[in-house]
Amino acid sequence: MTQLPKPTSLPPSSSPNTTNANNLQPHEQTQTATTSTAAAFPSPSLNLRITNLTHPGTTLFLSTTNPSITIPRAINNLLRLLYNSPSDPSTHPPPTSSVTLILEDFSGVAYTVGSPTDSNAKEIHFSQSYISHIDRSRLANEIDGVLTHELVHCFQYNGRGNAPGGLIEGIADWVRLRCGLAPPHWKQEVKDNWDAGYQHTAYFLDYLERRFGNGTVRRINEKLRVNRYDERVFWPELFAQDVKSLFADYTRTLKQQGL
Ligand SMILES: [Zn+2]
Repeated sequence: MTQLPKPTSLPPSSSPNTTNANNLQPHEQTQTATTSTAAAFPSPSLNLRITNLTHPGTTLFLSTTNPSITIPRAINNLLRLLYNSPSDPSTHPPPTSSVTLILEDFSGVAYTVGSPTDSNAKEIHFSQSYISHIDRSRLANEIDGVLTHELVHCFQYNGRGNAPGGLIEGIADWVRLRCGLAPPHWKQEVKDNWDAGYQHTAYFLDYLERRFGNGTVRRINEKLRVNRYDERVFWPELFAQDVKSLFADYTRTLKQQGL
C-alpha cells in the first residue's frame, strides 16, 4: 500500500530534498534504462484498465503520465535496484507474469494484490480521487512515485509471508527514494522502531546501503526470498548484528546531525 501523505508536516514547497543527493534523477533513469539490462530482466505483460474515463483523476492521470513509458521505466529501475544482472545467480527476480494498473475510485491512495486465480498476475489499484487531489505542481512526480512504490510490491519478496509489513513498505519506499521520487514532506527523523515502515524504514535501509555498501538492500530482499523471516537470525546472518543494534547506530547518526 501507499501511505497517505501528512499535509501538516509539509515543508515549504520550494525546499530541496537534500537527502537524495546521490540518487539518480528520473531523467537520468530514462537514459540509463535504454542501455542497461532491461531486455534480459523479466518483462511481464502490462495492462491498463480505467473504470471511469471522465473522472477528474483520470483526466489528470492521462494528461501528465504516459503509462506505456512510465511503468516499463519504473520496472526497469526497481529491478536494477533490487536485483543483480539477470546473468548473476546471486539474486532471483520473481516470476511476475503480468501487471495490470487499474484506475478506479476508492478512499486511500493505492494498493497491490495478486490475481485471485494467479498470484504471479499482479493488480495495482490506484485511486482516482487521490490523483484528483494531488498538488498540480508535482502531479507527474507523485503519480510516478506511487506507481514505483506499488510496482516494487509486484517484484519483491516477503520472507515466505512472514516479514513485517514495515520492512516490505520500507523497501518499496527505499526504491522510490533511490529513484529520486521522494515527496517533499519526507524527512529523516528519530523514530522508536526500525519497522515504522514507509519512508522511516526506507531511510534506515538507505543508511544500511551506505554503511555496508551498494547491494545491501538487494541482499536483504534475496534473503527474504530464501528464508522464512525470523528477526532473531535474519539480521545477524546478514550483518553480524541484530536489527535493534543497527537501528540504534542509525538513530545515533541522526542525533549527531541534530535531527
Ligand atoms: Zn505499499
